[in-house]
Amino acid sequence: MGNKRSRPVTTDGAGEGEPTLHNLLVKFVEDEGKGLSMEGLEEMAILLQSALSACIKAKERKAAWLCRVCLDSEVRVVLKPCRHACLCEECSNQLVACPICRIKVTGREKFILS
Ligand SMILES: [Zn+2]
Ligand SMILES: [Zn+2]
Repeated sequence: MGNKRSRPVTTDGAGEGEPTLHNLLVKFVEDEGKGLSMEGLEEMAILLQSALSACIKAKERKAAWLCRVCLDSEVRVVLKPCRHACLCEECSNQLVACPICRIKVTGREKFILS
């Protein structure tokens, strides 16, 4: 009967760049294109669950890479000689000892997370 459900796809900039749950949902509904059966819902629940755990993991990973001193910027510097990578550039320039192992810093090296 052609009652294709068109969801309001708002592009208000929320969560841009990442595969959000909303985007996944829209894609799923569009792919199926036949409304939602019980099977479809179960499949979607699985999809949502894995998307959710991926989001949580990404969040944890990001938190793990925040500067230990300012807790604001990303870790960008590895300290020498202990090789702890735990500081952003700004904080590393202000510390004379590693905040993790307290070994005196003799050098700093920038690195790039890709
Ligand atoms: Zn910092
Ligand atoms: Zn250290």
